[in-house]
Amino acid sequence: MGAATAKKLKKLGILTVRDLLFYFPFRYDDFSKMTPIAELQAETSANVVGQVELIQNKRSWKRRMNITEALVSDGKETLKVIWFNQPFITRLLQVGSRVSLSGRVEDGSGGLAMISPVYERIGFGQAVHTQGLVPNYHLTANLTQKQIRFLIKQVIGLANLVADWLPSEIRKPGRLIGLAEAIKKINFPKNSLDIKKARERLAFQELFLIQLQSQLVKKNLSLSRAPAIEFCQTETKRFVDSLPFKLTDAQRKAAWEILRGLAKDRPMSRLLEGDVGSGKTIVAIIAMLNVALNNKQAALMVPTEILARQHYETVSRLLSGLGIKVGLVTRTNKLMSNDKFPMSNQCQNPNDKKLNATEIVEKADIIIGTHALIQEDVKFKNLALAIIDEQHRFGVEQRQKLMEKSGSELVPHLLSMTATPIPRSLALALYGDLDLSVIDEMPKDRKKIITKIVAENKRHQAYKFIYDQVREGRQIFVICPLIDLSDKLGVKSVEAEYQKLAKIVFPGLTVGKLHGRLKATEKEKIMREFLDNKIKILVSTSVVEVGVDAPNAAVMMIEGADRFGLAQIHQFRGRVGRSVHQSYCFLFTDNQSEITSRRLRALVDNHNGFALAKLDLKFRGPGEVYGLEQKGFPELKMATLFDYGLMKKARTEAIKLIALDSSLNSWPDLKEKLGEWERGAHLE
Ligand code: ADP
Ligand code: MG
Repeated sequence: MGAATAKKLKKLGILTVRDLLFYFPFRYDDFSKMTPIAELQAETSANVVGQVELIQNKRSWKRRMNITEALVSDGKETLKVIWFNQPFITRLLQVGSRVSLSGRVEDGSGGLAMISPVYERIGFGQAVHTQGLVPNYHLTANLTQKQIRFLIKQVIGLANLVADWLPSEIRKPGRLIGLAEAIKKINFPKNSLDIKKARERLAFQELFLIQLQSQLVKKNLSLSRAPAIEFCQTETKRFVDSLPFKLTDAQRKAAWEILRGLAKDRPMSRLLEGDVGSGKTIVAIIAMLNVALNNKQAALMVPTEILARQHYETVSRLLSGLGIKVGLVTRTNKLMSNDKFPMSNQCQNPNDKKLNATEIVEKADIIIGTHALIQEDVKFKNLALAIIDEQHRFGVEQRQKLMEKSGSELVPHLLSMTATPIPRSLALALYGDLDLSVIDEMPKDRKKIITKIVAENKRHQAYKFIYDQVREGRQIFVICPLIDLSDKLGVKSVEAEYQKLAKIVFPGLTVGKLHGRLKATEKEKIMREFLDNKIKILVSTSVVEVGVDAPNAAVMMIEGADRFGLAQIHQFRGRVGRSVHQSYCFLFTDNQSEITSRRLRALVDNHNGFALAKLDLKFRGPGEVYGLEQKGFPELKMATLFDYGLMKKARTEAIKLIALDSSLNSWPDLKEKLGEWERGAHLE
């Protein structure tokens, strides 16, 4: 291909033929139904196959455009076909060409005509673009479906060279098709059974890797020892009583389950789940407090600097006066509290010592940090508990790395936290036999976030409302969707919205912006200004820092809401409504379709993350294989979280295989694939 096309593909992450083969379609158009021209009806879409009887370009001076007109016959009737400003079509289609057309039929002055249809010359081989089930791919600007289909068609034969890493011991009895066949069928299915078979194979392999990995971990854990952490009842009770709020029963129960797990000398591996705002942090702090009181170390790893900083401040403040040293290790910040932290929730203690990461990790009792915690030179003294916040943002390997830095023979206990309320049965099916604690109850004083879909003609009213909220002291988040796939970091969309709000709509208010191009230090500075209530309105991409607690933010405004998954919007919405103020979520969209309004209405009525994720899936078209990101869930491309049957099958097979040879040395391709997956999975 030419350099220009290669560049466009690069934007999609396609660098090699292999990447191209694995760039699966997200949906299919069903062109299998052809309509005889005689039966065409006005104002409908149709597929027609016929022969070109006449084709010519005309110039319309009045409308200043080029018009291509053709007559196409299917042997019984003829149909007029019109394209605008595509004069090159006469070079591709000539009188006598057989063509397949797909488009809208309209009733014009000269009778029925098909307007600007998708066309394809057929004759040699099979029609790729307009016949049968035609794949659709997620694309970047300036790259057409036709182009990518053409490219994939060119290389599809090479699928035969892709090694099938799934052992035949599993493939055969499971009636799964081979990998090469699956790649071919997912790209160019002949019928819906092909799609089903291909999807089953590809979904199975994803679930199988998850299962295999979790079964191997389980096996390892059962052979290892962990430091037993004694429950310090008096101190824990005193600490809980000192909190400004009363723990919910669900928090109490989760904390208790965790403490019981820590008391054993076998490593705990537990998932703590609770919807956004359910109060997972405090439960983690109770666990860390007990570890510190046992003179051991606890580490809390979080995905972003801002969140690390916020957790550091919360923990230092809550634990001040107990003689516990709290450390912060991020790329730009390395601090350790001096245990005389003032009882205020503002800013950093000027007395905090600046040390290097190695010193902090050696000296502090509780260490909070980002990926910086798993750098080469960092080594803990006696890590007894590793906690991963927003666990889906970390890869298996990163988790592993943290565990390996324990500084002793003993394996630390592991607690993963997630905001995605996966039902117990699903979590068990997905992650094997890990322990699970669920916070299924919100703090009592929480008000429901009032969610509204705002029509375009009510936009100014929403702005007025926002203005009043700011005047009352509240703050606002504005989330922008990525409009252009090439705008991966959201610079363009955030910039445009920022200009509009800062210059035109709210010239008197301080507006800030946050997107992926900003440096970590800049991001932190802006988030800090927002937390300090200096910035009133923060315009951001969906990267708006997960888990950050901005209690004063009361309005979450989402532009292009139809472009986000429901579960994802629910996560955004969880950024507000964290205090006594009544909070709001406004959804804007210019998509008028019935399905969009049904989807968004689900958010108005429903405040449960899992139910929303499920609805998301339901609203997808039947041909859609994947598409919407499922934030908060393990990254699945093909499988969905509702493939219970397949999940069970994957689990059974993983257990069987490990029983045969837990070193996996009998299946070198599989072993390599698992390693590759562990390194790459979930990395954002
Ligand atoms: P998440 O589960 O999303 O991580 P956080 O732990 O950040 O939630 O808690 C959200 C907010 O709720 C914090 O400001 C925290 O102080 C507060 N909070 C936690 N538990 C309670 C409780 N039992 N009652 C009232 N507020 C609470
Ligand atoms: Mg959190």
